Amino acid sequence: MMKKPIVGIIGGGLSGLVTAYYLKKSGINASILEARNRLGGRVHTHYSEEEAPVELGATWLGKKHVHLIQLLEELHLPIYEQFMGDLAIYEPISTSPPQLVQMPYNPDPTYRIKGGTSVLIQEIKNALDNTAIHLHTSVKSINKRNEKIEVQTNGLMRTYDAVVVTLPPKLWMDTISFTPALPDPLVDIAQQTHTWMSESIKVALTYKKPFWKTTQSIGSIFSNTSLISEMYDHSNFEENAYALKGFIGGGYANTTLEERKKRILEQLSRYFGDQVHDYINYHEAIWKHEQYTHSDYDGFILPHQNNGHSIFKEVQWNGSLYIGGSETASAHPGYLDGAVESGKSIAKKIIQNTQSVNSDI
Ligand SMILES: Cc1cc2nc3c(=O)[nH]c(=O)nc-3n(C[C@H](O)[C@H](O)[C@H](O)COP(=O)(O)OP(=O)(O)OC[C@H]3O[C@@H](n4cnc5c(N)ncnc54)[C@H](O)[C@@H]3O)c2cc1C
Repeated sequence: MMKKPIVGIIGGGLSGLVTAYYLKKSGINASILEARNRLGGRVHTHYSEEEAPVELGATWLGKKHVHLIQLLEELHLPIYEQFMGDLAIYEPISTSPPQLVQMPYNPDPTYRIKGGTSVLIQEIKNALDNTAIHLHTSVKSINKRNEKIEVQTNGLMRTYDAVVVTLPPKLWMDTISFTPALPDPLVDIAQQTHTWMSESIKVALTYKKPFWKTTQSIGSIFSNTSLISEMYDHSNFEENAYALKGFIGGGYANTTLEERKKRILEQLSRYFGDQVHDYINYHEAIWKHEQYTHSDYDGFILPHQNNGHSIFKEVQWNGSLYIGGSETASAHPGYLDGAVESGKSIAKKIIQNTQSVNSDI
């Protein structure tokens, strides 16, 4: 194809950053256009000095997530096992009180990244040094003109040889216009591709004392009947800052923050008593309200529907428009591992299409 293309990457989430990272390793510089005022997309760790880092987005990985693990090793980022303790609080039905159940041995535990998932975003950003990263830059349209691609943003128009779109498919479908139009089969699939976790509500309370694991070793809560459906110990790696973090039903997106907080505390106080009110801070993220993650579906859609569909692998516009992002990945689409796999495989395709560049991916 071309000599060292000028590449524009739309979206500065994990997938876009990984694409830029592997391109850079092969000597190709890319620009990243990111709509939010921060990098990371669905990776978003809240940091404050007196609290445990709180994951408002992605948290866990497993040993099967080989692309992610390889990248973490390459960047020297340690992981640690999620504390599950000996016991879980379980509420199966509303007519019986919560039970304490023994946690079975788990041969395939989950892990967290030491320091928080956003450490991965920061490390990739550091490795990108002089890569141009444009925050507050929301892409509106992508247009092919002769051999170039013009990208219209909320500010400038930018021109590239190749463009990688890393937004969730449903989101680019609804918010970015393409000229010439993308093929109908791709558009139809993108319309019906689930964006993993985009309807979820994350909630967390940070504490000075981990009362759930001091007298008894409780690591998690599962309820079929109350607003918190799952909750886990969310203390930091060093075990000197503590938190509980979990999910509440998506239906609570339209109640007020005060109402959600009140009901969460009521539920926790049923298990642990008044000490739950001695929290440092309450945190929440309603992903459904995030315009740069979620776009409403027209009808019913299954979790992970069309994630990893083979149509996303087809490079458009004569080899100059690449469709990336976690939902398009071949391995674990929708997950962090998928974001890494997608970023890596698209970088590889661009490198293969470029003369005189050797890939070490
Ligand atoms: C609450 C929650 C919990 C999760 N938990 C886990 C977990 O425990 N383990 C796991 O493996 N995965 C988890 N995930 C999924 C994981 O976060 C994603 O798979 C991964 O972060 C996706 O990365 P991405 O780069 O493909 O997409 P995104 O992170 O969505 O990145 C897309 C980027 O595009 C930007 N953007 C959007 N519109 C525009 C525009 N018009 N112009 C420019 N930029 C734009 C966005 O701001 C964003 O930065 C979770 C996700 C959520 C929301």
